[in-house]
Amino acid sequence: MSRINHQVRLAARPVGQPRPTDWEHVEEPVGEPGEGELLVQVLYLSIDPAMRGWMNAGRSYIPPVEIGEVMRAGAVGRVIASRHPGFAVGDHVSGTFGVQEYCLSNGRGVTKVDPALAPLPTYLGTLGMTGLTAYFGLLDVGRPQPGQTVVVSGAAGAVGSVVGQIAKILGCRVVGIAGGERKCRLVVEEFGFDAAIDYQAEDVRKALREHAPDGVDVYFDNVGGDILDAVLVRLAHGARVVICGAVSQYNNTEPVKGPSNYMSLLVNRATMTGMVVFDYADRYPEGIAELAEWRAAGRLRSIEDVVSGGVAAFPETLLRLFRGENLGKLVLKVGGE
Ligand code: NAP
Repeated sequence: MSRINHQVRLAARPVGQPRPTDWEHVEEPVGEPGEGELLVQVLYLSIDPAMRGWMNAGRSYIPPVEIGEVMRAGAVGRVIASRHPGFAVGDHVSGTFGVQEYCLSNGRGVTKVDPALAPLPTYLGTLGMTGLTAYFGLLDVGRPQPGQTVVVSGAAGAVGSVVGQIAKILGCRVVGIAGGERKCRLVVEEFGFDAAIDYQAEDVRKALREHAPDGVDVYFDNVGGDILDAVLVRLAHGARVVICGAVSQYNNTEPVKGPSNYMSLLVNRATMTGMVVFDYADRYPEGIAELAEWRAAGRLRSIEDVVSGGVAAFPETLLRLFRGENLGKLVLKVGGE
């Protein structure tokens, strides 16, 4: 049977927020796997703020997506043909399959996932890249101690919601920062944080004085910009600031807004450290095992925001992240199942 692969390729490097003309929608026949290859039908795509960075030219922690290339994306799918000894037809797999309906892969970076243990979208969130980012970023870089105060921004999102819940498991006081009343309620009522600050309606500096009266021991920063600056002035002695991302800055046409209040690091003998989850690749199994255990024990809730529409809906779905329209991990449903 001849199948058609619908793909979304990068057509132009965006200036500011990506526009429809930055993408090209392409159809091509699906190839057959060669020796050592497998053919994956993509079922769910991970939609990540980092995608915006991958669209830019220039040096980063990963090469940019080239013009004309299929847009890079993490995904889960099902093996529908295989000439690879490690994968059989019917296996469910996770990998960087791209914004397309089918992917031919040589198996490198592809891992099997078990839909009996967790719904497939969860392997893109809590049991996937964003869960691992939260896990290693908080434990390895943030290093919170029981009783300490952990503040996390993007608190209702994929990474932030897991960071706060792990910090609660560790016995910390946890304050989330998120946009809007609905998200703040979710952060406290569903994810069990001690408090939430609505940065759209409250003065973050003032609210932190109330919710972190002894200062912030760990700040896990997902957003950068003004919120980072506001938290910096509330650091406790010896605080650790984890620079995970700066989503508020990704569509800037001006240079990234750096923190003005960085002298707080000196005053408080604090550190600010960048982390990239890929550096922990050899420890992923350890992270996944503990996250899965917490999830199975009901100590870690995961929420996936699954949008339908297939690959054609990708350009619009990506923008949801920058409008704050997602609750938990944003996933785009692509194939059947
Ligand atoms: P997410 O938090 O699920 O979604 C993005 C959220 O960012 C939105 O829902 C929105 O929440 C918030 N946001 C958007 N524009 C904003 C603005 N101008 N100011 C403040 N908040 C804004 O996304 P995620 O996948 O979990 O990623 C969170 C961060 O982690 C991103 O910065 C991402 O790049 C980073 N990350 C880093 C690594 C790594 O290895 N370092 C790995 C994965 C992700 P509100 O409605 O609350 O504003």
